[in-house]
Amino acid sequence: MKEVFRVAIDGPSGAGKSTIAKSVAKKLNIDYIDTGAMYRAVGYKMNREGIPFEECDQLKSMLDATDIDFVSGDIILDGEIVNNLIRTSEVSQLASKCSALPMVREKLVEIQRGMGARKSVIMDGRDICTNVLKDAEYKFFLTASAEERAERRHKELIEKGEVITFEEVLRDIENRDHNDMTRALNPLRKAEDATEIDSTGMNIEQVTEAILKEIK
Ligand code: C5P
Repeated sequence: MKEVFRVAIDGPSGAGKSTIAKSVAKKLNIDYIDTGAMYRAVGYKMNREGIPFEECDQLKSMLDATDIDFVSGDIILDGEIVNNLIRTSEVSQLASKCSALPMVREKLVEIQRGMGARKSVIMDGRDICTNVLKDAEYKFFLTASAEERAERRHKELIEKGEVITFEEVLRDIENRDHNDMTRALNPLRKAEDATEIDSTGMNIEQVTEAILKEIK
C-alpha cells in the first residue's frame, strides 16, 4: 500500500456512507472527511442568516466569510461545533438545495481538495470519485434500496427525538436522490472505475470488510 492514499466513496443519501467511512478510517488509521456535512453547514448558515438562494452577492460575501473544518471528528463552522445542528431533516433539504449552487460547490470542492492533498484520507459524498478526488487510489459507489435507506434514516431521526413518519423520510430521500442526480453541476453518478457495493441486507461489518478487501 502507498504511504499516502485516498479512498473515495460516493452514493445516494442514507446508503450508510458515513458509518462505513468512519469504520474504514478507524481500521486504516486515516482521517475521515464527511463532505455532506460541509454542504449541510452551508445550508444551515444560509438559513440562519436569511440568505435567499437567488441572492448571489449576499451568498458570495457569506461564503468568503465562512470557515469549515473538521477537528477530532467534529465539524466546525466558524469556530462553532455544529454536529447536531446540521443533522435535522430541514437542514438535509437545505443542503441538497444549496449543493446545486455553483458558488457553493466551488468553495467546498476547493477546501475538500486541500484536505485530501497531503495526507491519507477517506472522503465520502456525491462527486468524490467523479470530481473532487478523481485520481483517488480507491473508489467505491455505495448504494442500497430506497426503502432500506429510508428505514435507516427514519430510525436515526426518531432516536434523536424528531417527529417524522417513515413515508416522510422516504419522500425526502427520493426527493434528494432526484435533486442530486439531475443537477447540472457534478450530479451523483457512479464513476466508471468505482467498485459498486449494494449494501441492502448487509451489516456494517460486512460492508467494511468488502471495502478493506479491495484496499489491501
Ligand atoms: O451526505 P449527506 O446526506 O449528509 O449530504 C447532504 C447533501 O449534500 C446531499 O443531499 C447532497 O445534495 C449534498 N452533497 C453534495 N455533494 C457531496 C456531498 C453532499 O452535493 N459531495
